[in-house]
Amino acid sequence: MSCLFCKIVEGAIPSTAVYQDELCYAFADINPKAPVHVLVVPRAHIDSLHDTGANHRALLGHLFWAATEIARQKGLGQGYRVVVNIGEHAGQSVDHLHLHLMGGRPMAWPPG
Ligand code: AMP
Ligand code: ZN
Repeated sequence: MSCLFCKIVEGAIPSTAVYQDELCYAFADINPKAPVHVLVVPRAHIDSLHDTGANHRALLGHLFWAATEIARQKGLGQGYRVVVNIGEHAGQSVDHLHLHLMGGRPMAWPPG
C-alpha cells in the first residue's frame, strides 16, 4: 500500500487529527496555506473526485458535512473555502480524494 493518505488514515504516518468518524479522517495540512487548513479524506481509498460514481453519493455528502462541521467548531463563521483539486491541471498532488478546508483569512477569487 503506497498511498500517502491511506498511510495517514491507518496511522502509519503521523498526522495531527482534527476530526474522525467511521467514514472519514480529517487532519492538519503539513504545509498550511491559511490559518486553518485541514484535509478531509475518506477512510477508503478513492483516487480523485473524478473517480466517484453513484455509489459514492452518500460518502461525498458526508465529507462536505464533516468539512463544514469542522469549520463551525473552529469558528469560521466569517467565511471559508472547501476546495477539491481534481487531476493534473488542478494541481492534485496526492491521488487520494481530499477536501481542503481553508479559512481564517480573506481569500482572493478566482484561484490561480
Ligand atoms: P493537493 O495538491 O490538492 O493534492 O493537496 C495535497 C495536500 O496534502 C497539500 O496541501 C500538502 O501540503 C498536503 N500534504 C502532503 N503531505 C502531507 C502530510 N504528510 N501530512 C499532511 N498534509 C500533507
Ligand atoms: Zn489512499
